[in-house]
Amino acid sequence: MIENTKPSNFIRQIIDQDLASGKHQTVVTRFPPEPNGYLHIGHAKSIWLNFGIARDYKGRCTLRYDDTNPVKEDLEFVKAIEQDVRWLGYEWSAIAHASDYFDQLYVFAVELINKGLAYVDSLPAEMIREYRGTLTEPGKNSPDRENSVAVNLEEFERMKAGELEDGERVLRAKIDMSSPNINMRDPVIYRIRHHEHQRTGNKWCVYPMYDFTHGLSDAIEGVTHSLCTLEFEDHRPLYDWFINNIDVPSTPRQIEFSRLNLNYTVMSKRLLTQLVESHEVSGWDDPRMPTISGLRRRGFTPASVRKFIGQVGITKKDNVIDMVVLENAVREDLDPVTPRAMAVLKPLKLVIENYPEDEAEQIEVANHPKNASMGTRYLSLSKELYIDHDDFMEDPPAKFFRLGPGREVRLRNAFVVVCTDVIRNDAGQIIELRCQYLPETRNGQQPEGRKVKGIIHWVNCSDAIDAEVRLYDRLFQDANPLADRSRDFQKAINPDSLVALKDCKLESSLGNADPATRFQFERVGYFFLDPDSRSGAPVFNRIVTLRDSWAKINPNR
Ligand code: ATP
Ligand code: MG
Repeated sequence: MIENTKPSNFIRQIIDQDLASGKHQTVVTRFPPEPNGYLHIGHAKSIWLNFGIARDYKGRCTLRYDDTNPVKEDLEFVKAIEQDVRWLGYEWSAIAHASDYFDQLYVFAVELINKGLAYVDSLPAEMIREYRGTLTEPGKNSPDRENSVAVNLEEFERMKAGELEDGERVLRAKIDMSSPNINMRDPVIYRIRHHEHQRTGNKWCVYPMYDFTHGLSDAIEGVTHSLCTLEFEDHRPLYDWFINNIDVPSTPRQIEFSRLNLNYTVMSKRLLTQLVESHEVSGWDDPRMPTISGLRRRGFTPASVRKFIGQVGITKKDNVIDMVVLENAVREDLDPVTPRAMAVLKPLKLVIENYPEDEAEQIEVANHPKNASMGTRYLSLSKELYIDHDDFMEDPPAKFFRLGPGREVRLRNAFVVVCTDVIRNDAGQIIELRCQYLPETRNGQQPEGRKVKGIIHWVNCSDAIDAEVRLYDRLFQDANPLADRSRDFQKAINPDSLVALKDCKLESSLGNADPATRFQFERVGYFFLDPDSRSGAPVFNRIVTLRDSWAKINPNR
């Protein structure tokens, strides 16, 4: 279950004050995704914050779909959002849609008109833009700005009745065309769109704009603290203006926090959609994607994602988090609880010449080196084993503590072997090694007069399981794939971000691995079964390596 920690941050301090002062009795938050894609780890920050606060303060958090755009709400995205929120360990108190409030929002708009605080404008869109002014120049009033309430009511009614074409009129809030904050220069609050809406059908041909909809939906729902990312800071005066000038049932407060940014990836649904549509990735849940579904498929645990967000924390400072922080969070989460197993990714046959033909022994080994309660299992060992090709070098440097001609190495959980022969095929490739084992080195004993440092893993040939193993690296080669604006960001994709090894050999116990179990393949990393697995043909995803080797391989990152 979810950690019962209450991480302090500036938002929780505000809430504490609001509860202490009696301003609020209950805390109400909302998570407001637009159902136009799958959730990514940036959304996990917002989920962690909004649902986490509601849970800790015994308040409420609504999952509210921001469906103000009358584009087809994709049921695939809605389902994925709900699955992802639940996977992260949270439950909403209610599901709502911004479109549930279209009737009420219309009434609010009429209220503004009646108060002389909104007007219907017939300026074409490009003129509205031109009249808006710039950061250094004030805007200009539209000729329609001083139209009477009666005219505005009539015009707004015509907009709603479908008498006008898209773009012919808009409804604007009447605020201040010379405000230093451009968002306050009579923003558009309703536009005409003759487009069927997924939920409201053809009932409406006028649709409210995001800024108008969002804060007023908060007020309708009784949201106390409306938490959003920093880019909305400049919209807060407008948020408050709507709340203060309309007779709303409650007074929510918008508080901004910094977005989560991660290096070596992109994190906007628009760009992630492009990756999916161009087939650069296998789908939204490609294990290289920064989506919740990608992380889930890769084998990340919900606890590791929450832990990561908790470590990053909630601040008002924008920064970019190193992918290593996320990887370390999952390593720390998995290490104490993950059973060990042996898997050889690039098999090379090793024949133990002095091991009896047709004999096999069963070696009892611990499932976890530090946690005896995780039990033991048996590894079979016989004359023919597989070791990893990378654990052999024909002409090794002095510091190579693995196998080479005439060299010794310990087979993990077994004994020391000395390599006696290297067998090649006609093409000159090494296809097999021969060795002798030293019976006196069982149970960790060292051979007489010397110390064998290297330990390598192995799998018994006769009952090894054939498997595919997928190794993942950063999806992008560049820390910031968007840095060069003149280049398509997809050009920065790391061509080695997926390496699929199809001829891997696993110890026999992995033949009936539970799909919910994560494993540490000793020396290779943490692994999780991929849904591409078929009976007798498992596919394992590497969640993460055992240590951060990226820094070493890429010293210039
Ligand atoms: P995107 O650009 O990826 O589509 P968005 O902000 O448009 O992101 P929404 O579906 O509108 O996506 O977002 C739902 C909520 O998640 C919003 O409150 C938004 O602020 C928050 N959110 C989105 N991305 C991040 C991020 N990187 N870090 C923190 N919160 C985020
Ligand atoms: Mg969006």
